[in-house]
Amino acid sequence: MPTNVDPYLGPLQPIGLGTPDAESAESYLWRLADAHAVPWQTMHEFINNHGPAIYKELRGQPPRLDAPTPQAAAYVHRVATLVRQPEVASLGLSWLAGRVRAQHVLRASRAWCIACLADTREGHTPYAPLMWSLASVSHCARHGARLQERCPSCGSKNPACRVEGWDWSRCASCKQPYAASDAVPDEMASAQETAVLEQMGLLASTLGHEVVDVPRPAFAAIVISLHGLGHHVSPSQMAWLMGVSKGTVSSLIGGHAQPGIDLLLRLATAYGVELPSLLLQREGETDWLMRSTRHGLVVWTARRKPRIDWESAQQKLDIHMSAEAALPVAQVAKELQVDARHLAACQPKTTAALTERYRTRVARERSARRAPPT
Ligand SMILES: [Zn+2]
Ligand SMILES: [Zn+2]
Repeated sequence: MPTNVDPYLGPLQPIGLGTPDAESAESYLWRLADAHAVPWQTMHEFINNHGPAIYKELRGQPPRLDAPTPQAAAYVHRVATLVRQPEVASLGLSWLAGRVRAQHVLRASRAWCIACLADTREGHTPYAPLMWSLASVSHCARHGARLQERCPSCGSKNPACRVEGWDWSRCASCKQPYAASDAVPDEMASAQETAVLEQMGLLASTLGHEVVDVPRPAFAAIVISLHGLGHHVSPSQMAWLMGVSKGTVSSLIGGHAQPGIDLLLRLATAYGVELPSLLLQREGETDWLMRSTRHGLVVWTARRKPRIDWESAQQKLDIHMSAEAALPVAQVAKELQVDARHLAACQPKTTAALTERYRTRVARERSARRAPPT
């Protein structure tokens, strides 16, 4: 790109900013390229050449601009500068980088609401709301319809990030419009799904560019504030309401673990506090947890323990029971992809035998080392 070119782009208004319908950063970039009549890759190269070269190599998967990562944040800020619209930095969830773990925030495949796509056909600007990209969102905030993930024509899922083609209303595999089939069962959202939908809607409508330097409240401070609100929060009660172990709650209170979006959603819905309040301690706001949500409080069922195929595990255990290298229990459990404590609880005899074999091996090796060479 020659340097004498004005390094600015024409302005483009983001759709639905400040509402749960806010468009995704990826959708904005596609529309930006479209408005400048250039392919998506060309727009991407232009942005990269006028800022930190974050994604020089566009081979393979393109970047996830909506993810809460510093890379996405740097990219979206650059776009905001180039279009001279600071509010563009609020698109996506990159402004949450460092406040929430990036894993499991976004879906791996595209999702869409058929009713929304039908609206698009009636003349609304086509765009993809951020909500469609969020892994925890199951329904459309506007229509209450369950989001679709499989093409009604060919049944395939489309990966969420794909460089070619911007058309959100068409299957990337068979090129048929998603809305071709209207035989979609109208599944009602459960109380839990409704609560999650509302919470994620609050997050999607938060203007990230205004709150970017605000500190994130510590989990312990959240618990203290919940106490202040009259919730008598003991770790065991929290664990029960959130459907997680007491150990998880303790490590969060101790500040040892950065919570993932799943845990924060469980906390927000179980106590009826707004999800953005858990992530942003807004300035001048003393009772930052006071604003409660409209949805009913949700008690989460415990996370399912990973199921173990004991039959095949038993075969492996048998091998370990007679193997020359008597491994420690922890290592055997890791090989079976079981928590060591879980293994001990389910197979106490085998665990004891394995422990004994390991102890014997260690003792034998020690005495062999001590014995003088003959
Ligand atoms: Zn919809
Ligand atoms: Zn298809």
